[in-house]
Amino acid sequence: MGRVFNFSAGPAMLPEEVLAQARDEMLDWQGSGQSVMEMSHRGKEFVRIAEEAEADLRELLAVPADYKVLFLQGGASLQFAMVPLNLLRGRTVADYVNTGEWSKKAIKEAKQFCQVNVAASSEDRNFSYAPTQDQWKLTPDAAYVHYTPNETIGGVEFQWVPETGDVPLVADMSSNILSRPVDVSRYGLIYAGAQKNVGPAGLTMVIVREDLVGQVLPKTPVMLNYKTHADNGSMYNTPPTYAVYVAGLVFKWLRRNGGLAAMERHNIEKAGLLYDFLDRSGIFVSPVQREDRSRMNVPFTIKNPELDEIFLKGAKERGMVQLKGHRSVGGMRASIYNAMPLEGVRCLVEYMTEFGKNHG
Ligand SMILES: *Cc1c(COP(=O)(O)O)cnc(C)c1O
Repeated sequence: MGRVFNFSAGPAMLPEEVLAQARDEMLDWQGSGQSVMEMSHRGKEFVRIAEEAEADLRELLAVPADYKVLFLQGGASLQFAMVPLNLLRGRTVADYVNTGEWSKKAIKEAKQFCQVNVAASSEDRNFSYAPTQDQWKLTPDAAYVHYTPNETIGGVEFQWVPETGDVPLVADMSSNILSRPVDVSRYGLIYAGAQKNVGPAGLTMVIVREDLVGQVLPKTPVMLNYKTHADNGSMYNTPPTYAVYVAGLVFKWLRRNGGLAAMERHNIEKAGLLYDFLDRSGIFVSPVQREDRSRMNVPFTIKNPELDEIFLKGAKERGMVQLKGHRSVGGMRASIYNAMPLEGVRCLVEYMTEFGKNHG
């Protein structure tokens, strides 16, 4: 079998060029006689790989000089704890915006460490929209404001950046980082697991403004203190070396292909194709409010849910996999991250058109 179009929410597709390069370098990375997997993380070869990955990520996102870029482990889920542990800085309240399953998990974890004020929520309409800023009730002396710019499960994406004044804005960008340009200076901290839009699972990226580092809650484990990693160039202990290497290849692929502005155009085109089809379709429905629809994760349902299994089976036969929706939303979900080619979305829309004719 050839390669499929994999619509998984994560781990997800990687650019074929990147996989081919990793294959070519698998046994012998650039004349070193070793696989990257076998290298000492303190050796000059891997140190170069890690330094280039950081430099390329900084370049892509135009990260200002007073921000640290950390390559950690533990997934975005560990950040749900690390954020309050590090960012409370003696304050007792943090504001959270609740827009779906990932926000809920972040809130639940933060409640162990502080008083959480849910500043806005879209739970009233099954997390199908992003509450506009005029609906947010922020706490003036909150330690930070946390939100999820792209809710991977519900398919809701903020198309605007919240305004939080002097209170640091914290974003879980796990499923839309590097999908478009971002003004990093608007944020106190950005975090993202790599396995959605960047690289293999096992790597978590944190971009944090320097002045927010170093005031951790007493008894915080050393490994959960951003300062530990910031002071040691993310090499306090063994980093996820192979994941850093592959993410670095993806950063170079992005730079070769026009950076984030080009990637944004590509993603708008792909998502547009799918949403335009959904809006014209007689049997497929998008549950998300139009202006808050995600460019990365596109949930949709069939008016008659008994057709779901038939739809998924037919998709698989045509080389399109992992289209089943999350259990909390039902139906289908097409995750169309950076590495999903336009061709994959065209193939899906063609199949949906045909399916609509046969089952409408
Ligand atoms: C996948 C995801 C997570 C969880 O990531 P892990 O790396 O599995 O911990 C958290 N937040 C968002 C928005 C996600 O998409």
